[in-house]
Amino acid sequence: MADHPEPPATPTDGLGAATSMRTDRCGTLGPDDVGRTVSLCGWVDRRREHGEHLAFIDLRDHTGVIQCVVDGAHDLRSEYVVKMTGTVRRRPEGTVNPDLATGEVELADVTVEVLATAEPPPFPLDERTEVDEVLRLAHRYVDLRKARMQRNLRTRAVVNDAIRRSMQAQGFVEIETPMLIASTPEGARDFVVPSRKEPGSFYALPQSPQLFKQLCMVGGIDRYYQIARCLRDEDLRADRQFEFMQLDAEASFVSADDVHRFISAAVAEAVEAVTGERPAAFPVMTWHEAMERFGSDKPDVRFGMELVELTEVFADTAFNAFRAECIKGIRVPGGASLGRNRLDDLTDRVKAWGGKGLVWMRVGADRELASPVAKFLSDAELAATAERLEADEGDLLLLVADRRRTVQHLLGRLRLELGRPPVTEGGLHFLWVVDFPLFEDVGPDGRPVPAHHPFTMPHPDDLDLLDASGEELLAVRSQSYDLVLNGWELGSGSVRIHRRDIQERIFALLGIGEEEARAKFGFLLDAFRYGAPPHAGFAFGIDRLVALLVGEENIREVIAFPKTQSGADPLTGAPTPIDPAHLAELGLRLAPPR
Ligand code: ASP
Repeated sequence: MADHPEPPATPTDGLGAATSMRTDRCGTLGPDDVGRTVSLCGWVDRRREHGEHLAFIDLRDHTGVIQCVVDGAHDLRSEYVVKMTGTVRRRPEGTVNPDLATGEVELADVTVEVLATAEPPPFPLDERTEVDEVLRLAHRYVDLRKARMQRNLRTRAVVNDAIRRSMQAQGFVEIETPMLIASTPEGARDFVVPSRKEPGSFYALPQSPQLFKQLCMVGGIDRYYQIARCLRDEDLRADRQFEFMQLDAEASFVSADDVHRFISAAVAEAVEAVTGERPAAFPVMTWHEAMERFGSDKPDVRFGMELVELTEVFADTAFNAFRAECIKGIRVPGGASLGRNRLDDLTDRVKAWGGKGLVWMRVGADRELASPVAKFLSDAELAATAERLEADEGDLLLLVADRRRTVQHLLGRLRLELGRPPVTEGGLHFLWVVDFPLFEDVGPDGRPVPAHHPFTMPHPDDLDLLDASGEELLAVRSQSYDLVLNGWELGSGSVRIHRRDIQERIFALLGIGEEEARAKFGFLLDAFRYGAPPHAGFAFGIDRLVALLVGEENIREVIAFPKTQSGADPLTGAPTPIDPAHLAELGLRLAPPR
């Protein structure tokens, strides 16, 4: 776990500790409680013998541990669930433990009641031991007892609560949309559920509530939100699970700026609730600028190494490899010390990522550039390169010449590879990236490939460009935007198309015929015939936000019951086969395994 942001303490509820079984919680007792008789309930954390008849038992609940001095006649083993009643007293001189919140006191004259015995835990519950992931998840209920998991899940609850408060305060109405639906247009693979009543037909589990929230706008809800479960059948990674939670929102009669304001407020509220500090206003950057400067549509702005334009420098170059649409470079501070093997490795990577090659230059004294290609370049070209990149002795310069998008893509990846700090370090840097292109690419059939779902409104200044064709269409901007945090895409959204004429043009451009449009989203198009307000929305991943707030690199650490990398749940055994009778009832027959 990284050291930034300051790991928040485990949020506790303060009030209401007392129940019919206990008076206090373990981790909250201190010198003020000396002399009180208290009852505590929890798990036996550690046991240390002290002579024949005395044992020190650390009793643990979710708030922490306290040392209890117990008559050794009891058979108390690790993870037994016990109730201890005794008197809080100061620890004797020289035995105070400054590392423990309760380290100044202990519980004495203890009577013990065993509430449940326990088998030895499948792995140690300290934070230091690395435990195999499958073993951890198979016994997640034991794993959850760790202070780290307690902190993560409780922080998550604090984030959810702050988001709800903020959205309610901004006039958003919490609405639950269905889980069994027809497909949504997010572009990932659906999880499907077979229908028993209509064998051969399937429900899809929602990839997002997208179409329903738009229907809510047609329904006059005005401002909708939901902390929504979304399901996408995609390969899992550190920042992706099959199921994830997002703050999903939509509002009517708003612009993109209004949406940014609403969402920024909710995120700021959540950050403040966890860290105690409200983040500064989130900067806004166009997609174009992000690509030019960082080579990424989710730029990690925590560090420099920006992409520097060099195309002009080589406009009349004699070096063939630099006669390209675009040349850019990055400066790796102190990188001249990278050995030849590493440089060859970087070159190989660039080729594997689709580049033609990589030019490297080591910066010596007086900005002298040492490079295998230096002999092909003029002194003026070398001097201008060093100057534009603000090269210093000991730096490494990396240059790529290619099509502009390719240069951005390759240098963007190199920049991350060589300069990126761990995602949890260096504070929280939020950024709105706006004006994404409407189309991601143009396919071999000349049809543009949409960058987002087909209801994304084009930029009002670019409507005329929709008449263009081929590559020119890539210049059309959309009114869509992403929220980025430390180089992680936290979420995205857009102003939606609510006008039939524009929607028809977009469908035509994408080659979505009337029949297909009807089949896929007929109900939405129908709804739009009955008076659709202009509307826009957004969604961001709560798992990712919480992970970064508690300093975790993997979202599994902030999810109570996550899946493994391969999508399995070692705890319940899911996914599991179902019995033949059930299959028959659903009208399904299994094909032999592939
Ligand atoms: N439905 C989109 C998503 O889940 C977000 C949005 O456009 O509101 O990514």
